[in-house]
Amino acid sequence: MSKTSSEYGKVYLVGAGPGDPGLITLRGVECLSRAELLLYDYLVNPAILQHVAAGAEVICLGRHGRDRIWPQSEINATIVEAACAGRTVVRLKGGDPAVFARGAEEIEALASAGIQWEVVPGVTAGLAAGSYAGISVTHRDLASAVAFVTGQETPDKSEDVLDYGALAEFPGTLVIYMGVTTARRWTSALIAAGKSPQTPAAIVRNCSLPNQRSIRCSLSEVPDRLEEKDRLRPPVIVIVGAVAALDESLNWFEQLPLFGKTVLVTRPIHQVEAVARPLRALGANVVVQSAIQISDPADWQPVDAALDNLGRYDWLVFSSSNGARRLLNRLCQRGGDMRNLAGVKLAAIGPGTAAELARFHLSADLQPEDFRAESLASALESEAADRRFLLARASRGREVLADSLNACGADVDQIVVYDSQDVATADPDVQTLMDDRQVDWITVTSSAIARSLDHMFGGQLGECSLASISPVTTATLRELGLEPTVEAKTYTMDGVVEAILSVTQ
Ligand code: SAH
Repeated sequence: MSKTSSEYGKVYLVGAGPGDPGLITLRGVECLSRAELLLYDYLVNPAILQHVAAGAEVICLGRHGRDRIWPQSEINATIVEAACAGRTVVRLKGGDPAVFARGAEEIEALASAGIQWEVVPGVTAGLAAGSYAGISVTHRDLASAVAFVTGQETPDKSEDVLDYGALAEFPGTLVIYMGVTTARRWTSALIAAGKSPQTPAAIVRNCSLPNQRSIRCSLSEVPDRLEEKDRLRPPVIVIVGAVAALDESLNWFEQLPLFGKTVLVTRPIHQVEAVARPLRALGANVVVQSAIQISDPADWQPVDAALDNLGRYDWLVFSSSNGARRLLNRLCQRGGDMRNLAGVKLAAIGPGTAAELARFHLSADLQPEDFRAESLASALESEAADRRFLLARASRGREVLADSLNACGADVDQIVVYDSQDVATADPDVQTLMDDRQVDWITVTSSAIARSLDHMFGGQLGECSLASISPVTTATLRELGLEPTVEAKTYTMDGVVEAILSVTQ
């Protein structure tokens, strides 16, 4: 018996937007999280795949020069077959799935197989290019219409199916997609059809991405700028019309303070965003290479024993956000809850740790003025004599806190709530960036990270600007023979970002 269409999976054609992973729609993200099979184009920023559920099958349909490029018929067949087998399929396309994206062919294949589909629009590159280059494509004084135009006719269509006469007369802005290799042909066709060679033009490459490049010129200069002078490879949008002459100072994106700078962020993977997000917002190209990885402690038994006897402690001291999260998660996993902490005072080394406590609806009773172990120890000193302290810590770390509390007559138990290990080798893409001296800044947000980076990159570290989070980390860098370019004034991730900004403006 053949399957009925109700047993088929649904297919979502989703627009991924022009490049910045933040420019996908909420509906698109929802579809990604539901996908069992995801097929994406080479133009899609792989960072968007973070929304795909673990266990989903993910297929890249080919990057130029790197992989096999899938023919359209094979894409259609794969989607249809998966949907017929009952799987939820997402076909993720750069920009909008209906703009120069062969979405119609995929929809036809689905319709004739009796499969249900939904199209989730995306921000098309032609519109993003304008926005990200400071060009209003329908500026009310300059253009009342926009045309999306392909610079690339399909090979089976006869030459010049585009009516260049009509395009030359078009009363508005022309936005040319896929026009790099054919630039000489379409610009001369427009000019021959009567468009002024002096018509303003803007070339925008990799729009919305940290390596965006935009150039203003005239229509007749476009081929030379693309091919010879600036050698811009696809993906490129060319905007033709009076709006392209708008004041270049409106180019807000390329004027962001860290635009053009590549910053290597080195925290453990689940903590990267706290520093990556503000850097990205300032225009930086953020590359991630965790120097440390964090995992469960080798033995939970001492942790569990302490959790069973929390009431005996006067103070519970957290010297990292990881420590706070891991201990409190363990407490909850074992059936406990925040009532187990009643009567125990909480100390946090800094705002990041206090914020982690706040996620568990806990507020710290004590936080030192500057965020390091020595300050935490001295803030606790007056409380220490004859009191019982529980320190939640990493498998390696400094003994400053325990030693000082012991010296003040405290009774100190230490429990290892997470294991911290160096990441031995860099991701090959990151290593290539380092080899090519493409990394401007490296964030060094702990002494352990400093040491691990030294093992990973050796002498190459000295070729980059290093942003140290605190005097303790700076001292470790100096022990390694490295001098940071900046040191954070407040010892937090925001402090590191501010420090970088202070010397780049
Ligand atoms: N569906 C896509 C277009 C695919 S056709 C969309 O709606 O945007 C591929 C062309 O899109 C490229 O040749 C280029 O002209 C344009 N393009 C896609 N991403 C781009 C980007 N980030 N910057 C500039 N042009 C881009």
